Amino acid sequence: MQHSFAIGDSKLDLWVGDITTQTTDAIVSAANALLLGGGGVDGAIHRAAGPELLDACKALKKTLPGGVLRTGGAVITPAFKLAAKHVIHCVGPIYDREGPEAPELLSSCYREALAIARERALGSITFPSIATGVYGYPVDDAAPIALGTVIDELRAHGRPQLVRFSLFDATIFNVYRRAGEALLR
Ligand code: ADP
Repeated sequence: MQHSFAIGDSKLDLWVGDITTQTTDAIVSAANALLLGGGGVDGAIHRAAGPELLDACKALKKTLPGGVLRTGGAVITPAFKLAAKHVIHCVGPIYDREGPEAPELLSSCYREALAIARERALGSITFPSIATGVYGYPVDDAAPIALGTVIDELRAHGRPQLVRFSLFDATIFNVYRRAGEALLR
């Protein structure tokens, strides 16, 4: 299942599938603040990338204040055994904990990841649906924030050329597709 939207000269692509198989320059992980791996999409990415990814995260942690990545923040490492070249690690908001701050913190993940992609001159990046798993963000609310932020960033900066979402199942895909159609109507 796939659906594409054109945003200027860039492409916004929605896919159903496992993000670890993506061949874009970067894939994004929905990590946690400790950057030590976890369940969900982050666990799958660490398993597929191999143990060097955890070593790279441990080294990076030492450079962060308090050894934690703040909510809404993003950092980049190599992708080791993955087909992608880089992993951008984001920490989404825990929905019940962040309350009214949750939308801005979720938006910040996408903005910061895209800023890193531009700094590194990456042509393509794949996101998962950040925070809509264990972190409990309702996907109906998260999808328009995720896509709205990406659309704004692509309109403002004109790159990267390809932003893809690799969504885990058809239900989430359909929510994102409807949100994209509503935003770009
Ligand atoms: P968070 O803790 O930010 O909520 P999760 O990993 O629990 O992160 O879930 C985020 C989303 O990623 C969920 O929609 C989940 O279904 C999805 N997901 C889990 N594994 C994968 C995978 N291998 N590829 C793509 N999406 C995945």
